[in-house]
Amino acid sequence: MKIICIGRNYLKHARELEHDIPTEPVFFMKPDSSLLLDNRHFYIPGFSNEIHYEVELIIKINRLGKSIEARYAHRYYDEIGLGVDFTARDLQRQLIEKGLPWEKSKAFDSAAVLGGFIPKEELGDLGQIDFSLRKNGEVVQNGNSRDMIFAVDTIIEYISQFVTLKIGDLIYTGTPAGVGPVKINDQLEGFIGEKKMFDFLVK
Ligand code: ZN
Repeated sequence: MKIICIGRNYLKHARELEHDIPTEPVFFMKPDSSLLLDNRHFYIPGFSNEIHYEVELIIKINRLGKSIEARYAHRYYDEIGLGVDFTARDLQRQLIEKGLPWEKSKAFDSAAVLGGFIPKEELGDLGQIDFSLRKNGEVVQNGNSRDMIFAVDTIIEYISQFVTLKIGDLIYTGTPAGVGPVKINDQLEGFIGEKKMFDFLVK
């Protein structure tokens, strides 16, 4: 399986990092070795002094597909999940400055936290999914899928022009505003609506 992540998909987040607003989706990948499952501890790696959380809605692909049109994209997933796209912001800043790929700052071990999934029938309108991240009990990010610059089906259409989507692939759909650093002993809890999707400690 592969993990595809969308960058800069929420206006306020693109602005908080002083990025340009994209005119087409920006994507990058993480390897399967970056997955962190089952609410395991996240260990801050030694190579960064600025690891940021980014809470994101996640699409799990359930059919093989290539060049999928947006109007058929809903047939390629039936669950929506929540996770964290951990980012070594200090490294990412250096890479962006040099015009280099972001992988070193995004694809490291445990950088893709994967929580639970909810069947899309239970979620109702996929254009109105509320989600949030709490750090040590305090809400630090609050998002709604209606604020995505590129909606899920548009993302699938775009990515699948370049990359064949396979069963089990994950698409992290971008983070809303409010990203920030983690430190040892922080507790991160993610919610879709009122339902808790992950709960883990930073070590
Ligand atoms: Zn992200």
